[in-house]
Amino acid sequence: MDITERKQAMEAIEQARAAAEAANQAKSAFLATMSHEIRTPMNAIIGMTGLLLDTSLSAEQREYAEMVRSSSDALLTIINDILDFSKIEAGKLELERQPFDLRECVESALDLLATRATEKGLDLAYLLDDQVPAAIYGDVTRLRQTLVNLLSNAVKFTEQGEVVISVEAVECRFIEHVPKDATATVHEQDGDGLPFHDLHFAVRDTGIGISEEGMARLFRSFSQVDASTTRRYGGTGLGLAISKRLAELMGGTMWVESQPGVSSTFHFTILAQTASARPRPHLDSSQPHLAGKRILIVDDNATNRTILRLQTQPWGMLPYECASGQEALAQVQAGVPFDVAVLDMQMPDMDGLMLARQIRRHQNAQALPLVMLTSLGQREIDTGGVEFAAFLHKPIKPSQLYNALISIFAEQAQPVLKQAGAAGTQFDALLGQRLPLRILLAEDNTVNQKLALRQLERMGYRADVAANGLEVLQALQRQSYDVILMDVQMPDMDGLEASRVIHEEWPAEQCPRIVAVTANAMQSDREECLAAGMDDYLAKPIQINALQEALERAGLWARVHRRSTSPLSPVKTAPLTLEAEKQVEPDPALDRAVLSELRQLQGEGEPDIVQELAEAFEFETPPLLEALCQAVAEGQPEQLKRAAHNLKGSSHNLGARTMAALSAELETLGKHGTVEGAAELVTRLEQEYLRVCQALAAEGAGVK
Ligand code: ADP
Repeated sequence: MDITERKQAMEAIEQARAAAEAANQAKSAFLATMSHEIRTPMNAIIGMTGLLLDTSLSAEQREYAEMVRSSSDALLTIINDILDFSKIEAGKLELERQPFDLRECVESALDLLATRATEKGLDLAYLLDDQVPAAIYGDVTRLRQTLVNLLSNAVKFTEQGEVVISVEAVECRFIEHVPKDATATVHEQDGDGLPFHDLHFAVRDTGIGISEEGMARLFRSFSQVDASTTRRYGGTGLGLAISKRLAELMGGTMWVESQPGVSSTFHFTILAQTASARPRPHLDSSQPHLAGKRILIVDDNATNRTILRLQTQPWGMLPYECASGQEALAQVQAGVPFDVAVLDMQMPDMDGLMLARQIRRHQNAQALPLVMLTSLGQREIDTGGVEFAAFLHKPIKPSQLYNALISIFAEQAQPVLKQAGAAGTQFDALLGQRLPLRILLAEDNTVNQKLALRQLERMGYRADVAANGLEVLQALQRQSYDVILMDVQMPDMDGLEASRVIHEEWPAEQCPRIVAVTANAMQSDREECLAAGMDDYLAKPIQINALQEALERAGLWARVHRRSTSPLSPVKTAPLTLEAEKQVEPDPALDRAVLSELRQLQGEGEPDIVQELAEAFEFETPPLLEALCQAVAEGQPEQLKRAAHNLKGSSHNLGARTMAALSAELETLGKHGTVEGAAELVTRLEQEYLRVCQALAAEGAGVK
C-alpha cells in the first residue's frame, strides 16, 4: 500500500466513523424528540384522569376512568422501558453519582409494589445486613428501577407466600476492576477515602419459578420464558435485560437461581462507595427506653418474625416469637409479663383482631400495649373498640417500629423521625396556606396548562399562566412571582432562553425561582436547564409529591433569598435593625401565655421557674449562636442543624416564638445539607436574642 492508498483508507475509516457517530447522534436526538412528543400527551392523559377520579362519578364512569388511568400508566411504563433500553444500547445512559440513603431506596421500591402485593395476599419484607452502609454514592433512581423491575416480576409470578429483598455488603479493600461509571467522578467529589462495598441484593419469591431452558433465555431483550407466559401475564420482555445492563453499569452483575414451582431468587451486585449518613436514632444500639422490654411477636410469616426479632434485639429488647394466635395466647395465659405485643392482622384461623380481643380478656394483659401490623392499603380497620397503641404498615420499616415503640415507652420522648406516610399521591390541601407563593405557570400545551392549574388549586394555589417565554417576560414586567414552573420546550421563546433573559434583566434578589418542567428524560437536559439559570427540575409526567416538594423547596428558598419581595415575610429591609423589626413585627419576643403556664407548674415556695429557665437560656444561647456563626463561616450544615435544633428546643420552652421559628428555618437548611442563606438568618436570630433578653429582663427574669 503506497502512501496515497493508505491516506485514502484512513479517510474512508474516518468518514465511516463520522457517519456512525452522526447516526448515533441522530438516534439519540430522535429518542429525545419521541420522548417529549409521547410524554407530553401522556402527562395530560394521566393527570386529567387523576383529577377526573377525584370528582363525583357513577360507578360505571369510575370504572372506565380507572381503566383509562391504569392503561396509560401501563403504556407509560412500556414507553419508558423502550426508551431506556435504546438509551443503554446507544451508550447514552449516564449514571448519576449522588449520596443517598440505601434503606430509603429499598423502602420506596417496596412501597411502589405494596398495594399490588396486598391485593394478592402476599407478604413483602426486606432485610438489610449490619454490614450494609447506611448511605452510598450512586444513582438512586436507577437502583430503585432495578429493584422495582425485579420486585414487580416477583409479585407478578407469585400467587401465594412472600417476596423478600435482602441486602448484604462486602467491603472491597482493593479495587482493581472498577468500571468507569462506578467511580467516574470519585476524585472530583467528596467521599475520597471512604470505603467501597460490593453490595449484593437478592429478591426472593415463592412463585412459579423458572425452568432450566427458560433461565437460558432470561436477560435477553424482548425475550420471555415462553409465549404462554406473555399471554397470561403481559410484559415486553425488556425488564430483565434493562435490569441486568443497569447492574453492569453500576459495576456489578445479575444472575438467577430457581426451583420450578417453588421459588425464584434474582441476585445482583453493584459496586458503591460509602457516603456519610445522617444520624438515625433507631440505629443507635443504646436505647434506654427499650432495653429489657419483653416484646411478643405474633405473625404466621417466619420471615416477618425474623425481621422483627432482628430489629428489636439490637435495642436490647427481649423478643418472644409466636407463629399463631393460639401460641401467643398460651404465653399470655402462662403469665409471661410482656411489655408490648406486635400482632399481624392477616393470619389464618385467628387474625390479629381476634387475638387482640382474646388477649384483652386476660386480667394480666388488659393494659398491654398492642401494635397492629397491617398491609398497606388496609388502613381503615374497624377495631370494634379494641384499643391499639399503634398501627404499622408492612413492609416493616425500622424507623416506624422504633417511633411506635418509643412513643409507647417514653411518654415524654418525641418520636425522632417523621412517620413515613404510605406512598400516597394525596394532595396537601393546606400547602398554599402554609407556604403562600405567587406562581407563574409557563406551558404552551393548553391541556397541560389546565392540568397543572387544577393540581395547584388542589394544594391551595392560584397560578397565572403564560404560553411561552415572551409571555413570561411580559408577566414579570407586570408583577413579581416567587416561582415560575417553566416548560422547557415552548414556541417563540423556549424556557431556557426565557431563563437566561430573566437572569440578565432582573437583579438577582428579584429573580423568581425557576423550576424546569420537562418531558425530556435525558440527564444532559437537566444540566442544560441548570446552566440556563433554572434552579430546580421536575420531570413530566409530574408526580404530585415531586411538585409539592419542589414548591416546598421554593418556599424555603424564597424565605432566604427574596425577603424583600416575598409575601412570606413582612420584613422589609435587610440587614434588619431592631427598630425596623419592631415596626413591622408586632409579635412580642416572648409568648406570655407560655410564661404563665410555666409559672403554674411551679409549686408553692419554689424558686421562680421562669427565672431559672431564663438563666439557663442566657447561659447556653451565646455558645450556640457562636456555633451557628462558625457553621456558616466554615460551611458545615451538620453543625448548623445540630446547634439550630438545640436552640429551637430551648427557645420554644421559654415561649420565644420568633427565635424558635428562625432556628427551625436554620435547622431545615442544615438538613438540606446547605448553609446557603443561613448567614442572614443567624443575624436575625442574634438580634432576636437581644430582644428576648430585654423581654426577660422586663419579666424580672434572666441574668441580672
Ligand atoms: P416482562 O416485562 O415481560 O416481565 P422481564 O424481562 O422482566 O419481562 O421478564 C422476562 C420473563 O422472565 C418473564 O416473562 C417471565 O417468564 C420470567 N420471569 C421473570 N421474573 C420471574 C419470576 N420472579 N418468577 C418467574 N418467572 C420470571
